[in-house]
Amino acid sequence: MAAITMKNIVKKYGDGFPAVNDVSIDVADGEFMILVGPSGCGKSTLLRMIVGLEDITSGDMMIGDRRVNDLAPRERNLAMVFQNYALYPHLTVFENIAFPLRLAKMPDEEVDRLVRDAAETLELTEHLDRKPGNLSGGQRQRVAMGRAIVRKADAFLFDEPLSNLDAKLRGQMRTEIARLQRQLGITTVYVTHDQTEAMTLGDRVAVLKRGLLQQLATPRELYENPGNLFVAGFIGSPPMNFLPATVEGTSVQLPFGSVEIPADKAERAAGRGLLIAGIRPEHFEDASLADEKKAGSTFTAEVDTVEWLGNETYAYIPFEAPPEVTRELAQLEKDLDSEALRTQLIVSLDGASRIQEGQEAEIWVDGRRIHLFDPETGENLT
Ligand code: ATP
Repeated sequence: MAAITMKNIVKKYGDGFPAVNDVSIDVADGEFMILVGPSGCGKSTLLRMIVGLEDITSGDMMIGDRRVNDLAPRERNLAMVFQNYALYPHLTVFENIAFPLRLAKMPDEEVDRLVRDAAETLELTEHLDRKPGNLSGGQRQRVAMGRAIVRKADAFLFDEPLSNLDAKLRGQMRTEIARLQRQLGITTVYVTHDQTEAMTLGDRVAVLKRGLLQQLATPRELYENPGNLFVAGFIGSPPMNFLPATVEGTSVQLPFGSVEIPADKAERAAGRGLLIAGIRPEHFEDASLADEKKAGSTFTAEVDTVEWLGNETYAYIPFEAPPEVTRELAQLEKDLDSEALRTQLIVSLDGASRIQEGQEAEIWVDGRRIHLFDPETGENLT
């Protein structure tokens, strides 16, 4: 096993805008690293440069202490697991796993031992004589991983392995991949556009946008302290709300009223004029259910739509943003391929809430959890 170090990696196709633009990421030995971002952000290109399927325009790609920029894929000793698993339909599970060992002309006895060991780990022993066509999606995935295990690859690389599966199987496979990766302790780089996969699988997550690394952090850190508007909007579902805001003393003025925030947050955002406040849906509460001590950061708003899900209630509250932030939010909507960041607030309330459509409601906001972003740079000031 080995660490993977990407140093100032650039990829240009022709003379256009770089598909990967000066990206540096250290994947520690045994770490599960996620590369995530919307379509076209450069995550697949970056993975293909690690494995050697794409030339590197500039920068250093290191596996352990070897610089691999000029090595062919087979010399890098990495195992790539593709979306379609690349299994041979006419070969048994045993022979599919054994394939790289046969290529290396390993003696039969040794092949047998390695394949059976891998099958044991992957709980495939009873399926060794079957053909891939008779396996479930999950089992096929494990066969593909088995092939990587017997090769004793230095790292696993996954490119959107679950994107063709239905939601239920995707959930199961996600759990399975996480379990195996931890059990094997093998360095893993995993590309996805799905933030749930990113959050649940990654030890750390690298968020990319248009070839640029936006933030590299643990899932919790990304969620709780997003570095900029893009990361804030990309991570979390339903997404963070973005509202025009001004700070006066320790109050933030929002379209609905003012909210008290901690002094240190207020200080960092002081004297900045119009800002964008970011508040996650779950950091609101129905004030009629909230503790008394929470009084003081409550506002009244007319609720447009209510969705009751049993355990929680989503309420949608329309608002209007001034043009200064509308432009920035329109760009963000485009980057995130999402709608209506500018026009409505989504609040997630306790399922016990009796909030009604078309009526005024008292909503409490957790001022400690508000983020304040610079509308020009998108940087999180708090
Ligand atoms: P997706 O999830 O849609 O696959 P991605 O984030 O993996 O997207 P890449 O496939 O890495 O993105 O592409 C990054 C950018 O590089 C895109 O703008 C894409 O159009 C461009 N690109 C990728 N491959 C080539 C190529 N062979 N020639 C020219 N441009 C390319």
